[in-house]
Amino acid sequence: MYRGGESAAHARLNDYLWRLRGAATYKKTRNGLLGANFSTRVSPWLARGCLSARQVNDAVKAWEAEYGSSESSYWITFELLWREYFIRAAELEGPKMFGSRQPAKPCAAFNAWRNGTTGLPFVDAAMLELRYTGWLSNRARQNVASFWLTI
Ligand SMILES: Cc1cc2nc3c(=O)[nH]c(=O)nc-3n(C[C@H](O)[C@H](O)[C@H](O)COP(=O)(O)OP(=O)(O)OC[C@H]3O[C@@H](n4cnc5c(N)ncnc54)[C@H](O)[C@@H]3O)c2cc1C
Repeated sequence: MYRGGESAAHARLNDYLWRLRGAATYKKTRNGLLGANFSTRVSPWLARGCLSARQVNDAVKAWEAEYGSSESSYWITFELLWREYFIRAAELEGPKMFGSRQPAKPCAAFNAWRNGTTGLPFVDAAMLELRYTGWLSNRARQNVASFWLTI
């Protein structure tokens, strides 16, 4: 569903803000699991540098000037701040950021988790979504990460 490039990034952001008015409901919908519009879905373009956090912030501010600010619209910029924080923390801390935990070594359990073949439909569906689309919702990421820590 994602087309690369700056134009596609701005098209998605504008569509989410101005046509769908997603900023009005973002805080309530952002933890959804199914669907295309419960969150902004700008992360692939942010990750590739097609869009900057400042540009998203400015676009949200422009939307707020028209429709009014709310906790919901603020929350988009708040999540962007988390992103900035983690990037900075990773720059400063490097691998120390992960404490004593080591990256997972390939093993049967890890491969089943990674390939979406654990046998648990909820976990497998999320890992397959990640594998085939490159994207996963925030809540599904929390679920599959927590699952990995338990095995
Ligand atoms: C275990 C786990 C791993 C994650 N790994 C990544 C990752 O590698 N890269 C990444 O960009 N995000 C990561 N996230 C955060 C979040 O899940 C994704 O940013 C989100 O799913 C991307 O979809 P979106 O653009 O629709 O997000 P939205 O909810 O629309 O958020 C807008 C933007 O805010 C930032 N953001 C949102 N939630 C978070 C968060 N919890 N922490 C930091 N920034 C956030 C992202 O830049 C995101 O694009 C992770 C979350 C968890 C729980």
